Amino acid sequence: MQISLENLIEELSGLEVITNPAQVAKLSEDYAHFSPVLVPLLAGKVGDLVVRPSDESEVLRIAKTCVKYKVPLTIRGSGTGNYGQCTPLRGGIILETSRLQEIKWIKEGIASVQTGVKLAALDKRAQEMGWESRMVPSTFRSATVGGFIAGGSGGIGSVLYGQLRDRGNLRAVRVVTLEDEPRIMELRGDDVQKVAHAYGTNGIITELEVPLAPAYGWAEYVVCFGDFMTAARFGQALGNSDGIIKKMISVHAAPIPNYFTALQSYIPQDANCALVLVAESDREPFFSLVQEFKGEICYEKGAHEAGKGLNLIEFSWNHTTLHARAVDDSLTYLQSLFLNDPQLELVQRMFTHFGDEVMMHLEFIKVNGNVIPAAIQLVRFTDAERLNEIIAYHESQGVFIANPHTYILEDGGMKVVDHNQLNFKRMVDPHGLMNPDKMRGWQ
Ligand code: FAD
Repeated sequence: MQISLENLIEELSGLEVITNPAQVAKLSEDYAHFSPVLVPLLAGKVGDLVVRPSDESEVLRIAKTCVKYKVPLTIRGSGTGNYGQCTPLRGGIILETSRLQEIKWIKEGIASVQTGVKLAALDKRAQEMGWESRMVPSTFRSATVGGFIAGGSGGIGSVLYGQLRDRGNLRAVRVVTLEDEPRIMELRGDDVQKVAHAYGTNGIITELEVPLAPAYGWAEYVVCFGDFMTAARFGQALGNSDGIIKKMISVHAAPIPNYFTALQSYIPQDANCALVLVAESDREPFFSLVQEFKGEICYEKGAHEAGKGLNLIEFSWNHTTLHARAVDDSLTYLQSLFLNDPQLELVQRMFTHFGDEVMMHLEFIKVNGNVIPAAIQLVRFTDAERLNEIIAYHESQGVFIANPHTYILEDGGMKVVDHNQLNFKRMVDPHGLMNPDKMRGWQ
């Protein structure tokens, strides 16, 4: 940083700036502590200050300051990312989006929002008009729309609508650039992929247009099974049941449900179970499917009770890892896709091979029109070497691993440099100020 902290604060006068070291340190963190590999790599990495713009003109002013003094810039939504995505590796300014909270409009199936709008707030408003988000992460209460698009992949709803990266699941973005003369750009159509899931390395998203889905009344069920593979096959069968509308199919091998403390009075000890959200109007065919697989419904909540008490969404996706780590913080996790395994043979092979060391947790999602199992397995961590062996074994058997133990964009899910995103970065961030050291292609 070529400007003193005092002068930087002076440059940003009139904006909401946080300099208290404890607060800045807190706002430099996310949930990377799920990974024992990332913890030492990110230790001590903090920004110099946090600034909270209240509108796009303030965002532009921050961008101009960063360019003028070559100050690194890291964007933060709610900081619920898992890979240190919003931890600044080279200090500088943290731009936090919490004041950019306006829902601009909701029309037939599309919403226009500022980046800091929380997904839960968007859904509350959209549901009043018969719509809801196509997909949300299990952190929907706190996560921002911009943070989900820039750092997330998919979630509850992905069983119907695929993943964020699928064409159509993001319609437009407005971004502020860090060119010599920072400006506002609008990207539409396939151009949105230039900044989607780029960890804030190539543009500050200020507004987004996102598509919505028709809102259903969702009933929540926990269904228990005698063994894990029956639970998994039930999950696949429900995913394949085109006549049953569902939003979430989350399947857990014993002993994972034992970690769901708040569900203990409903789920028997050492059960294998599926946590599902099904359209309430499809209760009858859903119950027939449960009967076919000899499942036992051990928890049921009607759509009229939505918003009250427990929400099964908050036991799915990486909330499973959160609950498990609350009981045993030596546990960590993997993220995988079983891309070509319609009979679940590979799922069974991994389940049997690793036993209790890698506990199976499946989330069914739609990929290229087919419902497939994704997995967020819980891993009993011993050391990094063994973790790498576990990853390598999965890959050797044909399981795709989106490595959650790296903060480098390409080393997680993509594996290859995205030249579309890299070329866009060359244009909009020529000085490499945005979230430095996160994009391998730039390095
Ligand atoms: P942040 O963590 O603040 O930011 C994420 C990334 O986006 C960072 O790189 C940041 O720099 C960048 N960014 C943020 N705002 C902007 C902007 N305006 N312009 C440019 N870049 C920006 N993820 C899923 O996909 N699905 C899940 O189901 C899911 N479940 C989770 C469960 C738990 C318990 C936890 C801890 C995490 C989970 N996540 C999940 C990860 C994360 O919660 C989501 O991706 C969430 O949407 C991130 O939103 P955020 O506002 O917290 O973003």
